[in-house]
Amino acid sequence: MSVPPDAPALKRTRPPRPRRTDPAERRFPIIHRRLSRAYPDARCALNFSNPHEMLFATILSAQCTDAMVNKVTEKLFAKYPTLEDYASADILELQQDVKPTGFFRQKSKNLQTTARVLLERFDGRVPSTMAELVTLPGAARKTANIVLGNSFGKVEGIAVDTHVRRLSQRLGLTVNEDPVKIEQDLMALVPKSKWFKLSYLFIEHGRAVCKAPVPRCADCVLNDICPSSRV
Ligand code: SF4
Repeated sequence: MSVPPDAPALKRTRPPRPRRTDPAERRFPIIHRRLSRAYPDARCALNFSNPHEMLFATILSAQCTDAMVNKVTEKLFAKYPTLEDYASADILELQQDVKPTGFFRQKSKNLQTTARVLLERFDGRVPSTMAELVTLPGAARKTANIVLGNSFGKVEGIAVDTHVRRLSQRLGLTVNEDPVKIEQDLMALVPKSKWFKLSYLFIEHGRAVCKAPVPRCADCVLNDICPSSRV
């Protein structure tokens, strides 16, 4: 059917912009789109060349910056190239090797015990399932998610670190404090195809703008839809 020449042009109506009081389900797609545009290269910043290096770097990253971990692992991975090297290392020497990452007694112990467990129970390989990874010393779901995604291309959950936790709370995507509950809230809200990258988008934004303790809301691309915005 042809349209008469004097017919009024059809107006394209845009759906109204989400407001900061809208439910998380409505705001999340916008949050994700804007952060993806702001941080197109968001990814894991830890250096590694095999699954056990990925696992050990993640263990060392607790309460430490990725930059410092990379500085330490550059020497560590050269000095201890195999799991056997960690398993038989002098623990006091290993402590000194990881000292700049903080909590060095616990972390060096975790590295050595993990290396021994991998050798004894997993034929010297890092397991590639969540159920097995969380049985390793110093590896909870956050570490397991990071290792699974980065070393095996598997996604079974969402890695919740301190940035992901803070942003999820400030953005009104969860009311929980416990990382496992926050992960469950995010998994229920976010399509699975977006789980892996989401952590890195939140980490980038947390480092650059939504800082702890004081967020830079005036510079934030989410300040019109964030319930915690200070502008
Ligand atoms: S508006 Fe402020 S609190 Fe909300 S995400 Fe942005 S920086 Fe964080």
